[in-house]
Amino acid sequence: MGGRRVIAAANSSEAACPDCGVISARVHQRTRQRVKDLGVGGKNIELIVIKPRFLCTEVACARRTF
Ligand SMILES: [Zn+2]
Repeated sequence: MGGRRVIAAANSSEAACPDCGVISARVHQRTRQRVKDLGVGGKNIELIVIKPRFLCTEVACARRTF
């Protein structure tokens, strides 16, 4: 039997910029991050986490996305 694939979406709709601290709710894009081989219960499970990437709305901030 093969492994299972589990897709989890991080459901945050807003986040604070790590540089300027401004809260942004503007999602730039969503990225997929693969976490392989968790080995839960002796089975290979491929976990894919979908994380939103935010656009910093602070014009004075050098960081555009986070
Ligand atoms: Zn910022």
